[in-house]
Amino acid sequence: MYDEFVLEMHALANKAKLLHFAERGATLESVFIIQELDNRKAAIALRMRSEDLAVYVGITPAMYWMRLRAARIFKRFPETLERFKQGETEISHVAMLWGKITEANSKLIFENMCGRSKREMESFLSRVKNDGTLLEDEGVTEITIRLKDSERDVFERAREILAHGGKVPSLAETVVKATELLVDRLDPMRKAERAAARAEKRRGKTNEGEGEGEEFSPSSIQPGEDEFDQSCDSSESGGSGPGDLGDYFSHFGLKEKAVSAFAIPRKHARESTTKHRRAIPAAMRHQVWLRDKGECTFEHDDGSVCGETMMIELDHIDMVCFGGEHSVDNLRLRCRTHNRYHAVVSLGEDFMSRWYS
Ligand SMILES: [Zn+2]
Repeated sequence: MYDEFVLEMHALANKAKLLHFAERGATLESVFIIQELDNRKAAIALRMRSEDLAVYVGITPAMYWMRLRAARIFKRFPETLERFKQGETEISHVAMLWGKITEANSKLIFENMCGRSKREMESFLSRVKNDGTLLEDEGVTEITIRLKDSERDVFERAREILAHGGKVPSLAETVVKATELLVDRLDPMRKAERAAARAEKRRGKTNEGEGEGEEFSPSSIQPGEDEFDQSCDSSESGGSGPGDLGDYFSHFGLKEKAVSAFAIPRKHARESTTKHRRAIPAAMRHQVWLRDKGECTFEHDDGSVCGETMMIELDHIDMVCFGGEHSVDNLRLRCRTHNRYHAVVSLGEDFMSRWYS
């Protein structure tokens, strides 16, 4: 049953792949049509402003200008066109080269444009000089944010507070400082490192110390350290239990029959896990974060590791609903996708068939 599911997912992924290939072709055609419209001054003939023409052909003015810039780059540097056709770069990336690429630096840019995100590309281009050399400085990325007035007030207050230090900070400095404070306060990895450092210090004080077990003692956590832990761990206690899966699947609009089939394990799970529904001790959580280096530990069939660092959850290897307990050995870090995947696979083929029949 599960193999069939994998085959089905392969077929679906291949369908998406073909579609995106066709989409790329259609985008390219649009780029060349926009270029022709511009070359032949279509807006004037049609008595429109260029912005209106963009809307008339069904895209935003910003996208219109982006495609026009890309068209000009394609014409001047045909290699960019080849790279776009090969799927190595995107229209938005090519458009970013406008006003930046020269005959002298084009080779360097071509060597570095493949597989970069838009942000990475922007950062890289900020270091490229016209003569084809690279600035030694760090790259720079521009971020635009929109704030409500009330949010802006908080932001301005933050600037005032930082200005007490004797210098009015720039907008960027305020954002960076605020973000650094947040990371320092909430990053589970930094908390774990601090806890380990404290344990180390105590061991030093008591010379021989009381052994490894000390790190597990909840008393090793300073008051206030885990004030914000709730937000980081909202997923851990229920994340691997079937209780949350109903919401997960209904999010993807799965049929009601399947969701109601889910009600049975959900009820059992709730009864059997009540006694484990206490929070994972902070010291234990720190151990797992340090051991797994803050990354998803899921291993693919080819032996490579997922390594995701976004939306990381603590996953019980023996699921809580099957009697698995909180322990360093029974816990590991998983990204949300792989945490859910583990739950689905663990619930067995019989369970799966109710979903995918
Ligand atoms: Zn993962």
